[in-house]
Amino acid sequence: MTQRYVTTPSGKKLVTVIPGDGIGPECVNAARKIIEATGAPIEWEERHAGESVFKQGIASGVPQDTIESVGKSRVVLKGPLGTPVGYGEKSANVTLRKLFETYGNLRPVRELPGVPTPYSGRGVDLIVVRENVEDLYAGIEHMQTPGVAQCLKVISRKGCEKIVRLAFEVARAEGRKSVACATKSNIMKMTEGTLKRTFEAVAPEYPDIESWHIIIDNCAHQLVKKPEQFDVIVTTNMNGDIISDLTSALVGGLGFAPSANIGSEVAIFEAVHGSAPKYAGKNNINPTAVIGSAVMMLRHIDEFDAASSIENALVATLEEGKTRTRDVVGDEKGAPTTVYTDEIIKNLGRKPKAWKVREYKQIELPQVTREPDFVKVGKRRVAGLDVFIESNRTAVEIGEDISRIVEGTPVYLKMIASRGTKVWEPTGAITDTVDAWYARLMLRDAAGDLTDAQAFDVLQRIAANHRWAHVEKLQEFDGDPGYTKAQGED
Ligand code: NAP
Repeated sequence: MTQRYVTTPSGKKLVTVIPGDGIGPECVNAARKIIEATGAPIEWEERHAGESVFKQGIASGVPQDTIESVGKSRVVLKGPLGTPVGYGEKSANVTLRKLFETYGNLRPVRELPGVPTPYSGRGVDLIVVRENVEDLYAGIEHMQTPGVAQCLKVISRKGCEKIVRLAFEVARAEGRKSVACATKSNIMKMTEGTLKRTFEAVAPEYPDIESWHIIIDNCAHQLVKKPEQFDVIVTTNMNGDIISDLTSALVGGLGFAPSANIGSEVAIFEAVHGSAPKYAGKNNINPTAVIGSAVMMLRHIDEFDAASSIENALVATLEEGKTRTRDVVGDEKGAPTTVYTDEIIKNLGRKPKAWKVREYKQIELPQVTREPDFVKVGKRRVAGLDVFIESNRTAVEIGEDISRIVEGTPVYLKMIASRGTKVWEPTGAITDTVDAWYARLMLRDAAGDLTDAQAFDVLQRIAANHRWAHVEKLQEFDGDPGYTKAQGED
């Protein structure tokens, strides 16, 4: 990061504050009021995004003056944003995260005194480091046929390197002992496998931190069974989204789950939860997650004392147990959001009995080259083509037809697959099919390199008889195939 934050002429640190939608303003106001009570030198620049902006007709949900403010301040405290039905195609949240390349999402959870859960007494204290801009959340979706949708899972080696290094740096900054990498690399060998391989390559650079890999489904299982075994978990975007909601439930629910979206230039601090519209304006929600996010923000801008003071006051308030919100003690006994906030302010300067603020250092943000071609290869070749087609004919009809079409060309039809399973030549298996298929065409010369002219010619011949949706080159990089086999393909 070039500069973590900006100091204004009056000597204050500039923070863009986005109140957000639904319960957002109530949570953000609580956090602001508590920060102001500590006297931390913050100058707020209020900007907007989300529902109100969509309704003004701005399709991205993020107006230019918000983008400019974030680009200037580099630090954002934000309430959740909703995407109202009928407005905007993309989430304004994801847009903000992606516009400022906040590639790492830190989601800590720690058992809180005064917040009883089935896990109380077990010392849950972990942080999920979620990749934040790639994966299925890149949002690259296409309808392959009227009835078959596809979403591209984009995982880059560079993105993995950034998130893995961030996870180890977070472990060091927070004095943690181990980092677990949770992936589905056993099934998605290329995408999820890239995270696992990158993790294994980078881990030896952090010999002071124990490192291990776990398959994500077992990780979910272990998180429910024995969550105290985890310290830092690094994972891909969608896995991280799901397991971090799970981990928040281990310590009392979404009302207690803060987060930080970290990039090389900008950091955005927000709760894990959404805008919970049914509670909007009722003054009965739990603002702890946003307050916790504000505490993370204060550390990011070197206001460590104010951060510890708020953390202590918050935990002391919960520990005392007089003033807790509806989600902890139920409707009858739940304190209004504003009363809970004022109680925390009253408790500034107090320390809880059963809690020690951990020793934080500033996170050393990974320096990864900005060069787009992060991975360089020596030798490459195109071994064939996958042509994705739409057809309501049978696998045998399509297979025989495409075999005939490519006779006399440099490629042969190796197989036809439907939804990733080989269905031609028939294997005797009983596989249901849909109208989306791909034809795998391999070069007859197993050492050859398919030219674009040859590829166009093959595509044109197929297109004369079949409706095609897209084409993938089957590339090899330094001898390794850059494509996977279909289920059942030899
Ligand atoms: P949600 O807003 O997180 O709410 C789900 C449930 O979590 C609530 O019904 C409530 O549970 C509980 N909850 C959440 N925040 C709470 C708080 N501060 N205090 C107490 N309880 C809390 O999820 P959603 O209903 O799926 O999403 C609503 C909207 O938020 C959607 O438009 C979604 O796109 C958006 N969203 C935004 C963000 C973001 O801005 N980062 C993140 C997620 C979702 P009970 O019903 O059990 O009381």
